[in-house]
Amino acid sequence: MNDIRLFYIWGDKLIEDCNRLPAVLGRARLVNNLIEAYGLLSKIKVVRSSSASYEDLKEFHSELYLEHLKTFRDIQDDYMTNSQDEEYGIGYDCPPVSNMFDLVSTIAGGSMTAAKCLVLGMADVAINWCGGWHHAHRVGADGFCYVNDIVIAIEKLLKKFPKILYIDLDVHHGNGVQDAYSSSKSVFTLSFHKYEPGFYPGSGSINDIGSSKGKGYSCNFPLHELYSDDTIEYVFEKVFNSVYSYFNPDAIVVQCGADALARDPHGGAQLTTRGYCSCVRMVLDKRKPTMLLGGGGYKHTNAARLWTSITAMVAGIDIDDSIPEHDDWPIYGPDYMLTIEPTLAKDNNKKEYLDDCINKINDNLEKYLGLGMNANCTSTEPQVKKQKTDSTQLNKKDDDIDNCF
Ligand SMILES: [Zn+2]
Repeated sequence: MNDIRLFYIWGDKLIEDCNRLPAVLGRARLVNNLIEAYGLLSKIKVVRSSSASYEDLKEFHSELYLEHLKTFRDIQDDYMTNSQDEEYGIGYDCPPVSNMFDLVSTIAGGSMTAAKCLVLGMADVAINWCGGWHHAHRVGADGFCYVNDIVIAIEKLLKKFPKILYIDLDVHHGNGVQDAYSSSKSVFTLSFHKYEPGFYPGSGSINDIGSSKGKGYSCNFPLHELYSDDTIEYVFEKVFNSVYSYFNPDAIVVQCGADALARDPHGGAQLTTRGYCSCVRMVLDKRKPTMLLGGGGYKHTNAARLWTSITAMVAGIDIDDSIPEHDDWPIYGPDYMLTIEPTLAKDNNKKEYLDDCINKINDNLEKYLGLGMNANCTSTEPQVKKQKTDSTQLNKKDDDIDNCF
């Protein structure tokens, strides 16, 4: 154990609803079961998730989109999408599901609950592996994401923390979050992702740096396919530390999408737990209030391996490499190990290319956030006063913090 106050966001309904997201059917329960099988839930603070309200969702999403989501109640397998559904992104990538509005309220509520734990000063780190849906837009679903829980959570964090650094480790560019804050100086978005012709979503080039008064406050590291632990550790250490020192955030949100892991069916990178944990460790070392979220990750057992490993690392608990026996144990074969083995494929990222990107990023940071440029973006007074925390609420498992915010 260490001295980090870690809060893990949990809820039967949160797991149930995340479990029925079409792109990751059954994943949420698998992840939670593995974390539980390692006995971590009895050693860390577990906080019950609450749902987001219509007003909460409206902080980002348009009312037209939210009203449309309400029309999906009991959806049968043979449902045919119409042109209005498609206008809101409901279709191939994001098929309709039953009780859609309720589902997005639950998913957004998980990350909002994590934000509340940080805003109230209860937690140093709050984890919601059911969150991280970074592609959803204000007016529609996209790329398996129906609700942008990240933006809604960041809006909550901004009530206390004037400057938020958002980091995206998913193999896909974090376009939905970047678009939401592309003209803002309060939220710096930093995304590391595979960037190749035809690879979704197609945005996130090195020149994609934000717009109008937020120019310079979006940063993208486009990587060639098959990027490895060595590559991500090299670039993350340099770029994260630069961004951190120029921007000086008050809180950090990390989307830990697991689809950059080796062998992910939608990925094309070859990270292992080591690469992700190195990045998260560098963030934790800054000792800022931090939210860790899930995201992509389509080899479900590997997503469970990764997020269990990160949870244990944050909690400072050593766990055995052998997967403990539990109901899901048979599907962790043939090795039944927590370790994710790297592949033997060659990393297509050459050091010259990485250094060139690093130099461009540093030039932009100096140009847009350097001395003389950031006079208008220094910390301001928090928009709301820090609310008093009742420590007695922390004594029992599954606290409901609904009434604390
Ligand atoms: Zn992804």
